[in-house]
Parts: sequence; C-alpha cells; structure tokens
Amino acid sequence: MSTNDIKHYPCSSCGADLLFEPKDGMLTCPYCGHKEAIAESAEPVEEQSFEQHLNIRPEQMTALATNALEVKCQSCGATSIFMPPEVAGRCEFCGVQIVAQPKSADPILTPGGLLPFCVTQDQASTELKHWLSTRWFAPNGLKQFAQPEAIHGIYLPFWTYDASTRTDYTGQRGEHYYETETYYEQDAQGNQVQRTRQVQRTRWYPASGTVLGAFDDILIPATQSLSTDHLEALEPWGLEQLKPYDPAFLSGFKAQRYQIDLGEGFDRAKETMAPTIEGDVRADIGGDEQQIDSLDMNYYDVTFKHLLLPVYAGAYRYNGKVFQIVVNGRTAEIQGDRPYSVWKIALLVLAILVLILIIIVAINAGK
Ligand SMILES: [Zn+2]
Ligand SMILES: [Zn+2]
Repeated sequence: MSTNDIKHYPCSSCGADLLFEPKDGMLTCPYCGHKEAIAESAEPVEEQSFEQHLNIRPEQMTALATNALEVKCQSCGATSIFMPPEVAGRCEFCGVQIVAQPKSADPILTPGGLLPFCVTQDQASTELKHWLSTRWFAPNGLKQFAQPEAIHGIYLPFWTYDASTRTDYTGQRGEHYYETETYYEQDAQGNQVQRTRQVQRTRWYPASGTVLGAFDDILIPATQSLSTDHLEALEPWGLEQLKPYDPAFLSGFKAQRYQIDLGEGFDRAKETMAPTIEGDVRADIGGDEQQIDSLDMNYYDVTFKHLLLPVYAGAYRYNGKVFQIVVNGRTAEIQGDRPYSVWKIALLVLAILVLILIIIVAINAGK
C-alpha cells in the first residue's frame, strides 16, 4: 500500500482526524469542532448480480477503506475492521481485550449501502443505564455497563436479496364431502338404539402446476456474533433510509467483517422464502386440504446488496459466561442478555423467611 493511497479525513483547520458525528451526520473534528459534510452520492444503493459475485476472486474485491485495518478476536473469532485513529480495544461480542496486532484489512465484497449512526454514544449509554436500572436481581458487576466505554459503535454486516422464483409442484387436492353414518348408543333406559350422524370425509384428486413469486429485500444477518433473537428484535431498521456506502461514515466506528458469505446467506434467504412459496402452492392447489408431494423451486434474477447496519455493542462476563448487550444505532432499541445474581435472590428469600418468622413470633406473643 503506497502512502498516497491512504484515506484520511484530516481536519482542514488543525490536521487532526475527523470523526463521523451521529448527531448531525457530519465529519467532525474532536479537537477544534470543525465540521465537514460527507459528499452525498447521487447514485442510489444498487442491487448487484448474485451470479456474478458468487465466485468472485479476492483480487476483484476491495477493502472497506484503503487504510482499513482488521483484527480477529482471539476468543470468539469475530473480525472487526476499523480505520486509524480507531484502535482494536475490547471485543464488542465477547468482552476480551484484543491483543492481536491489527493488519491491513483483507478485501471483501464492498458494501452497497449503510445506515449511518444517528444515536450518539452518550445517548446509547443513557438508554443502557436506564435499561440496567430496571433489571432486577442483576449482579453488581452488570453496573460496569453503565460506563460509556462499555459499549462501542460497530457496523454489523447484512445481506439483502431480491429474487424471482418459479416453482413446479405435484400434490393432491382434498375436497370434503359428508356421509351419513349409522351407530348405536345406549339410551337412559339401557336399550341399544340406532342413530345416525354426518361424518366429514376427504376425496383426493391429483394436482400439479407452477407458481411464480417475487421477493424483495430479504434481510439476512451476515454476523454470527449475536443471537438471531437479538438481531430480529432490533428490527425494524428503516432500510428505505439507506445511504450509498462511503468509508467516511466509518470514521470513528468499527465494522464487522461478514462471517456468513454471499452463497450461504442466499441459502438462508431460501429458507425464508420457502414458507411463502409453500403457501402459494397450497393456494394454487385449492380445495379444502392440500398435500404437497414434490416442490421444485427455481430462483432467477437474483440480486443482492451487502449492507452495514449500526449498533453499539458490548459484552460482559459473569461466572464464565458471556452476556451481550446491543443497542440499535438508529432507534436506541436495546436488546440484551442478563444474568441473575444467585446471592441477591437468596438474600431476598432469606429476608422474606425472617419476616414470616417475626410475624409468627409476634402473633404467638400476642396470644
Ligand atoms: Zn480540527
Ligand atoms: Zn470476541
């Protein structure tokens, strides 16, 4: 890497590195307060061809920014990418201090777009403090999260896919009809009496056909560092506000390198599409009941976007387990794991028992 490649955002009035400020979306000098706007790209966030990128070679990919560094967490394996003056620091996902030496970032599929942070670190910390104060029986150690440095801004990697589908199916259509059935019953006097009732039956007819489908922006996380539950609970993201990717948005933040690649992400998107396709097939078969014998799903015109979405994340270790907290960098929505303090619960139970004992003693003394 030649030095003139290096992309810095120097402050034009003092030379320090400008950092992205979520409050106003400007590059801001942390020392003198000088602000510069990020040039708004006129190009929309474009869909890219899945076919063309599926077997892309590393030399056809690019780094997130020319001076980007990356470091892999020795404990959980997450790789984060950042630009100087940002440092590796503590791993957002497992809480260990990262000791590995950052190296220049490996090329990746360039993000098509991102949602810039609009929640500041201070706002995220305030929300977090409130969240923590409402957690009963949390161990005291959890309070360390109330420190502003406990969580850190990081962009998480996602894929979105668009696809057209064509599904050939075979199956059976079930139509209900009713038959009169005769049965015997004992009446009140103990006599056997003959009665009739209507019984529903199903007549099956072979069915086959083709259904077409179109899917738009199926969002698939490309990170494995946070639970699916937490990631889903952070939605909605407001993807209609996506901005075309510009490394300037990363200044002062980290970005996680995708752990689920483009092809694997599409396999997950297929799982997301399957229930809808199956529903369409059932509707196409019609009748009162349906049986699906075979489904041949074909996907075409598949396009994708690699997206970066902003969170403040941090991890806390308690009794050898990792507890994660994540704050949506757009909406300040908090999702987190929380440990229970066995001691605090035991003390409360003890206090209640003592109270009951005192009441019993008092009642007996009054007799
Ligand atoms: Zn400055
Ligand atoms: Zn880690």
